[in-house]
Amino acid sequence: MASSSDEGAVLSVVKKRKRGFRSVEYKRGHVKRGRVKGLEHINYASKVVAKKKIGNDCKCKLKCFGRLLEGDREEIFTNFYAKETKDEQDSYLQALVEVVQVKRRRPQEMNQRSHVRVISSIM
Ligand SMILES: [Zn+2]
Repeated sequence: MASSSDEGAVLSVVKKRKRGFRSVEYKRGHVKRGRVKGLEHINYASKVVAKKKIGNDCKCKLKCFGRLLEGDREEIFTNFYAKETKDEQDSYLQALVEVVQVKRRRPQEMNQRSHVRVISSIM
């Protein structure tokens, strides 16, 4: 820092910082809300993120889409994005997740880990 003790200069620096901080806070709120609500928004990289919609069938061998009626998929999707925070979304999903034991384990996986099946293709 220079040896200048001009109070006016110091003050204007403080003001500038404050304004910058506020806009960062605003942007953080905007990105966070856009992501949680699945709405179109501008992300931190200033790129437009499209509105969330139900994705395609994951086409895996578990036949995830076949397990759910289309109405159920929409209901889960709507309920998920109706939540106000990521925490609420997480617990909503947790309630839908089924924990199943792996039927056949490979020798190197002889621990008590459970296999978690998530209906992630909906999100
Ligand atoms: Zn699947």
